[in-house]
Amino acid sequence: MIIISACLLGRNVKYSGGNNLTPWLAAYYDPALFLPLCPECIARLPIPRPPVEIRNGTGTNVLAGSARVYNKDQEDVTRHFLYGAATTLHLARNHQVSAAILKEGSPSCGVTRIYDGTFSGRRIPGQGVTAALFQQYGIPLYSEQTLTKSILRELIRREKELQNPKI
Ligand code: SF4
Repeated sequence: MIIISACLLGRNVKYSGGNNLTPWLAAYYDPALFLPLCPECIARLPIPRPPVEIRNGTGTNVLAGSARVYNKDQEDVTRHFLYGAATTLHLARNHQVSAAILKEGSPSCGVTRIYDGTFSGRRIPGQGVTAALFQQYGIPLYSEQTLTKSILRELIRREKELQNPKI
């Protein structure tokens, strides 16, 4: 399966209660090939919920214990993000995931960039907590911004081959 951030398919799971529908990506959605997941929902965070950023680091630092995750109300939600990441990884491994397409910029799903922890709209290079854990376990990562149609078609071709190997 190919994991995809559920909000990219139009599921209303983001902190605001809205979604990040990316129509060209959603056009390729096939339930036999894609597994839509939201690590923050898996962590049972409510919808809507206060926005969250990683303070003093990236998802990699959160996994290492040297940075923490706070919401805009200054509540430490690190344990929820770690639980969401670990459970999403568990599901990914159970479904023999071949790749993950995640929402850029998110403190869970960001693949190349996240917000800097000051809630000022500034971005820094780095990954969200789930994306960083996926990377540590060797799952190929793409975002809606790093992916192209030709790469996606190749991911789909490989996934079909994995599901129906030629004898
Ligand atoms: Fe989308 Fe990921 Fe945020 Fe869930 S955690 S709303 S899937 S970006």
